[in-house]
Amino acid sequence: MTDCVFCKIVAGEIPADRVYEDETTMAFLDISPNTKGHMLVIPKNHTTNVLEASAVQTAAVMATVQRITPAILKTVGSDAFNLFTNTGKTAGQVVLHWHVHLIPRFPDDGIHFWPEILYANGEAAKLAVQIKENIV
Ligand code: AMP
Repeated sequence: MTDCVFCKIVAGEIPADRVYEDETTMAFLDISPNTKGHMLVIPKNHTTNVLEASAVQTAAVMATVQRITPAILKTVGSDAFNLFTNTGKTAGQVVLHWHVHLIPRFPDDGIHFWPEILYANGEAAKLAVQIKENIV
């Protein structure tokens, strides 16, 4: 993809603080980090999101996460992290090249994630049945 910023990083056309690369994946520091060591792990070949990624890419990205996370945590002095992927504009995806955010956590780092909602009585069970029926 010629206009994709992460493809340009893979191609070496724009700089990034790379920490790891193999045949299928690359990891580099997020340019606008939530905490020190905030890493992005991507498949090198362009794919829009986790649902579009191949099984090989998905496995390779997770293998890279498993390989590099101990080094990240050791380096920044953390023993906890969040791992997530934003998918779609409503979920906050800005870069349309699949990436996993790996965010080291620290006590009192000020990050507070999601609000909680309540199901009505019986609503969760009904929802689970509906979702099961929609799995193809
Ligand atoms: P998302 O909102 O999930 O699409 O996240 C995209 C992430 O990419 C953001 O956290 C950005 O800070 C990060 N980002 C965008 N451009 C670059 C870049 N050139 N180098 C490193 N990180 C980048």
